[in-house]
Order: sequence, then structure tokens, then C-alpha cells
Amino acid sequence: MSVTVARQIVRIDEDLCTGCGQCVSPCAEGAIQIVNGKARVLREELCDGAGFCLGVCPTGALTVHVREAAPFDPEAAEPLIAEKRATYVAQHCFRCGTSEDDVPLLPVRSAGESTWVCMRCLPSLIHG
Ligand code: SF4
Repeated sequence: MSVTVARQIVRIDEDLCTGCGQCVSPCAEGAIQIVNGKARVLREELCDGAGFCLGVCPTGALTVHVREAAPFDPEAAEPLIAEKRATYVAQHCFRCGTSEDDVPLLPVRSAGESTWVCMRCLPSLIHG
């Protein structure tokens, strides 16, 4: 019998998922893939529950919740992380164009789009 723990893990609402694939790139562990036109968590132990995928989903199909699941396994995720590093394409702040190679970016929704914003531009998004 496999071991489970109560922990945060991503949940995908299949009814809301359009299979657009925008959530695949932010998942550094490669836990999310598109299978038969829908996003899926391939294996529970690959999802660390950090939720970096949430902000980019245009339909709100992704949530993080606590349930019994296989523990996150960094060793199992490492080959997928290495594979993603090989095809890494830096994202840019949609306001100033700064690369995530230079400053951290956060996923945001803006004017109906899922995109990325840097820490310098975030306050002006919040306060206008
Ligand atoms: S970003 Fe949202 S709608 Fe698009 S594939 Fe992922 S879960 Fe589905």
C-alpha cells in the first residue's frame, strides 16, 4: 500500500479546462501535461503544490487544495526539471519587458489575459 500525506496539491476542473496548455510552462516539475485535450497532473508525487500554474489559467480551472496524496518526490521530478531547463524560454514582464532572468516575475490576470509582471510594475497594477 502506498504512503499518502495530507498536503497541498493542484486540482484541475476538467469542465473548465480548455486544454490551452498555458499551465504547462510554469510547472517547473513537469507535473502538468496536456492529455487528450485536458490538463492533467501526471503523477501526484511530481506536484509540489506551489501553485505557480494557477495565475496563468484563463478559465480558473486550477486550484490548490489540501488532500491525502503521495508525498512530493524531488528525485522523481528531477529528470523532468532537467528536461524543462533544456527547453527553457524566459518570460517577460508585460509592462516593462524585463526578463525573469533578471528579476522574479509573478503570474497575473490583466485585461482578460494571463500574463507575467515584475515586482517593479506590480505596485502600479495594484494602485493604478
Ligand atoms: S491553463 Fe487552465 S484551461 Fe489551459 S490547459 Fe491549463 S488548466 Fe486547462
